[in-house]
Amino acid sequence: MRNYTTQMDAARKGIVTPEMEVVAKKEHMPVDRLMKLVAEGKVAICANKNHKSLNPEGVGSMLRTKINVNLGVSRDCKDYDMEMQKVMSAVNLGAEAIMDLSSHGDTQPFRRKLTSDCPAMIGTVPIYDSVIHYQRDLATLTAKDFIDVIRLHAEDGVDFMTLHCGITRKTIEQIKKHKRKMNIVSRGGSLVFAWMSMTGEENPFYEYFDEILDICEEYDVTISLGDACRPGCLADATDVCQIEELVRLGELTKRAWDHNVQVMVEGPGHVPLDQVAANMKVQQTLCMGAPFYVLGPIVTDIAPGYDHITSAIGGAVAAMNGAAFLCYVTPAEHLALPNVDDVKQGIIASKIAAHAADIAKGIPGARDMDDRMADARRNLDWDAQFACALDPETAKAIRDDRLPEDDHNDTCSMCGKFCAVRSMNKALAGEYIDIL
Ligand code: SF4
Repeated sequence: MRNYTTQMDAARKGIVTPEMEVVAKKEHMPVDRLMKLVAEGKVAICANKNHKSLNPEGVGSMLRTKINVNLGVSRDCKDYDMEMQKVMSAVNLGAEAIMDLSSHGDTQPFRRKLTSDCPAMIGTVPIYDSVIHYQRDLATLTAKDFIDVIRLHAEDGVDFMTLHCGITRKTIEQIKKHKRKMNIVSRGGSLVFAWMSMTGEENPFYEYFDEILDICEEYDVTISLGDACRPGCLADATDVCQIEELVRLGELTKRAWDHNVQVMVEGPGHVPLDQVAANMKVQQTLCMGAPFYVLGPIVTDIAPGYDHITSAIGGAVAAMNGAAFLCYVTPAEHLALPNVDDVKQGIIASKIAAHAADIAKGIPGARDMDDRMADARRNLDWDAQFACALDPETAKAIRDDRLPEDDHNDTCSMCGKFCAVRSMNKALAGEYIDIL
């Protein structure tokens, strides 16, 4: 019988939970230090009591940077089995979290399948599911309807939920007054905005925040405070709407922590590269070090088809400067629903960004594999190189497709006998170097 409610409650009582033990080991960190960070809210261990298959992870800027993959059934892709296969291959490629953004049919069986089978943290956005769950138009839903969906997701074992609590009726005036180029591009944020506009009522996720906290405390759901006003283009970055919402997210973070509810804060968005670090610092200050979960940042608006790259550039700089959690972006961003290959490209790009940042931050053990890769390259040991690769399959396929004409294991077809590695190995061993 647990004598604590949430991981944060346990940490504040000085109780080391089984999840803390696992995370401390994965992060090469003494468990006492981790417990202190959880108690302070600087690390969130998103672990719903009902997610029995979870292999827990910690999210915090002093830990390895984690990545999230968005999946889920939709009207244009409603095959549950195929979506589950995508989930498992995302986990195998290194995703630590899956957000189920299902927007079609009966969403509960898929959600329950995720929390019964998937070892990654599971996140949802209850406002997306509300319209589907009730099969009613948005304007007819009540605050109680939304809160009941949050409770349903909590009971189903969801580890973290994106809740757009930070926009209020004041935001409606601000959006009209400040004339952004892209208005609101957050899907959940636009739904909350639309609901407030149609009903004339206050944002229920803000107005009934205390009731939501009670549910999250009961099941240990981490609130991922959604950034409804995240910029949707470079011109809107770091504007009044974004920062004003962030100030409110800071206030809500404090209220959640007072309830022992764990929090992550979501961040931008589209941001010019020179503003990324400043955005991270401002968030850390306003939200008192709560883990920052960034959706990009995409650093240029003109590369549709390559937004896994634009976001990896922003993600690496963001994580190096304090972001803890990167939401993947695929080449299909802004264009279409990602297919299997897009999902893979997005995951690998995010993993590269996260890993590059971890090395820069000096996360313990982060560079070990890079050092092993350097040894394998010096030894021209191709199998060892593939074993160190983030995507061994692609690396091997490229090499096998274009092997050098002779001495297959000696060089690659890039430089052939002019291979610098081979020449240096032979020279240092006092051997004759044949080039022609
Ligand atoms: S041939 Fe050139 S690219 Fe290939 S392993 Fe040697 S030095 Fe590297």
